[in-house]
Amino acid sequence: MKELLLLHYGLEVHQLTPLDGYVSENYQVESTQGNFVLKVYPFQSHLIEDIEGEIALAKHLKSIDSCEISQTLNSQEGRALPVVEHEERTVILRLLTFVEGEFLAQVSHDPKLFHSLGQQLGAINQQLLSFRNWAIESRRLEWNLNHFEKITPLASHIQEASKRKIVDHFILQWRTHVARVIPHLRHSIIHNDANDWNVLVQDKGFGFIDLGDASYTALISELAIASTYVSMAKEKPVQWVCYLLEGYHQTLALEPKELDILYYLIAARLVTSVCKSAEQALAQPDNEYIQISEQGAWDLLEKWIQISPLYAKNAFYQSCGYEVKEAPEANDLVKKRHQFISKGVSISYQQPIHMDTAIFQYMFDRQGNRILDAYNNIPHVGHQHPKVVEAGQRQMSRLNTNTRYLYDSLTRYAEKLLSKFPEPLNKVYFVNSGSAASDLAIRMAQNFTNRQAIGVVEHGYHGNTRLGIDISPYKYDGKGGNGRNAQIIEAPIPDIYRGIHKDRLAGKKYAQEYLKSLEHTAPLAAFIAEPIVGCGGQVPLAKGYLPHLYSAFKKAGTICISDEVQTGFGRMGSHFWGFEMHEVVPDMVILGKPIANGHPMGAVVTTTEIADAFDNGMEFFSSFGGNPVSCEIANAVLEVLESEDLPSNAWEVGQYKKQLFHQLQDLYPVIGDVRGAGLFLGIELIQDELLTPHTKLAARIKNELRRQHILVSTDGPFESVIKSKPPMCFSKNNAEELVEAIADILKG
Ligand code: PMP
Repeated sequence: MKELLLLHYGLEVHQLTPLDGYVSENYQVESTQGNFVLKVYPFQSHLIEDIEGEIALAKHLKSIDSCEISQTLNSQEGRALPVVEHEERTVILRLLTFVEGEFLAQVSHDPKLFHSLGQQLGAINQQLLSFRNWAIESRRLEWNLNHFEKITPLASHIQEASKRKIVDHFILQWRTHVARVIPHLRHSIIHNDANDWNVLVQDKGFGFIDLGDASYTALISELAIASTYVSMAKEKPVQWVCYLLEGYHQTLALEPKELDILYYLIAARLVTSVCKSAEQALAQPDNEYIQISEQGAWDLLEKWIQISPLYAKNAFYQSCGYEVKEAPEANDLVKKRHQFISKGVSISYQQPIHMDTAIFQYMFDRQGNRILDAYNNIPHVGHQHPKVVEAGQRQMSRLNTNTRYLYDSLTRYAEKLLSKFPEPLNKVYFVNSGSAASDLAIRMAQNFTNRQAIGVVEHGYHGNTRLGIDISPYKYDGKGGNGRNAQIIEAPIPDIYRGIHKDRLAGKKYAQEYLKSLEHTAPLAAFIAEPIVGCGGQVPLAKGYLPHLYSAFKKAGTICISDEVQTGFGRMGSHFWGFEMHEVVPDMVILGKPIANGHPMGAVVTTTEIADAFDNGMEFFSSFGGNPVSCEIANAVLEVLESEDLPSNAWEVGQYKKQLFHQLQDLYPVIGDVRGAGLFLGIELIQDELLTPHTKLAARIKNELRRQHILVSTDGPFESVIKSKPPMCFSKNNAEELVEAIADILKG
């Protein structure tokens, strides 16, 4: 190689050091005549045109002050790209000026530096607006964000489900927010890879190397790509993007519509990076360096997902001096709402939250705050899970119809759902809510038994229909309730914390007493209970209670109904259904809330015998129940539960969270009880040893947590139980955040 350099460039080389390179072999050249970089490309005719494009680009930027771009030098024969024979290969030589300075990746970062870099990138882009080159314009690189869709199939190489879902989310967001906008934005040739190893910090400016990714693309991509790297390993990444942005905007004004998609473009660049790494990892499974080098991108993606897109957009607007739309006043919104919606349709919190967007276990309000969702169990596999959203979008654009036709989604989902149940639970009816499911279940039980009386558990809640209220002590005994209907036979809640029985045999004793009381009533058509009474304050039915009752009821011909609207679909962690925890098999199960991650759906699962009896000539019809879209969404929920093994997460994180609460209980006797299973926990607050409920403290904790942007609720007959039943992807870190916040409130 040294001879080649002497022969073609007249350089007397002391040292030749190999450098990294993709397309070419690269060397740092130290010679009597100074330092250079040599690139040696295997000969391909199209490469010449491509590199000539880079040479023209570098020349075009030569005139910018305080910016040094590596320039290609001519050989002694006057050729920029001499083609020579070397070691029996035909190669293209390219000698470049050596750009001095320290890589941006290696210097300490401060706002001023970023501001200047922004200015410099702005200057480069300004200059490039007038540069046209067909070779560069015809590049179709995967690293060009305009061609982002090209890399999306690589996401399938990402093995870890918790990482894959973040990538899938940002792919979906790109399709939603960027794909249709980007063709209408300003386009130009840009450097397209101003990462921190391609930018050198010099005494009086910056140096830029590697034009190998230069492309014709949306102008804003330049800033998005630079932003991606400069915000890695920063506590507040958006802030650092803003420093860059401020400088850039001073030199080359950005348009609001470009800023609107910047958040998603930064995510798209990160996704490109981790997808390419995943592809490489597949080809070189033993190369540990790939994993190390992609860590920064993963860390930022995990941070990025917790940043409100609105917050980022507002910050970007502010950096460029554009007006930020103020969020409307919550009080005005409440007033407006009450113009059309009754006050009886309640809103949480003294200070209601105006929600904007959400993802997984995070929600974002209209002020741009990130809110940790430790409360909502309806978005079971996580808010807006991309697999669920995609399933809904796909089916909605294909077929949605009333349920009187044949379509594959229904049978496929029914089979999959029923595979989660033990025999003889092998028939399912689909409806649109938990209420519709409990209503239907009771109707079917009454039909099957030809009886009317229904057994319920104190404080239970099963729905908002006429019948739902009748079977819900939580409602008929609560504010505005009309008391118990004569056909409802209520069982005292088998609570081992507050109830009369607390010992090992408590469950059996509660059951025996209830059965005894039933000796004087009409025989029950059905007995309905939740495995853990949610509205009662997350009270688990005492151990042994259900087995004892169920065996008596089965003999007496009473239909046993398990209301799994809250406890189902793996939330308990140890078991997929709450009834399995009690080692019983009901005759009917009602499902709702988590079944379709927030899409309105409910179901009744029962036996063939009961279903056949219900088929008595009066057809059962639900316009929407089990329609193709609902079934596809519900199917996606089951698939995500499996692929991300969320029941195991519920178990592991639930146990950890419970343990953290127990540690807090040791410090604060106001925590009377910590109970529940998996990610379905209740923390009961008491004032004294007589277990006087501490309603006020529960309300204070709930509202103070809300102020700190963490969601929980209060419930139970005295509103003294803090309930936490978050999306199933809730993490140990999230649990710590919640428990530490409660600890701070209790301390204060
Ligand atoms: N059963 C239980 C145990 C519930 O918690 C609920 C809702 N909170 C229902 C039934 C009714 O479900 P929906 O609100 O979907 O009608």
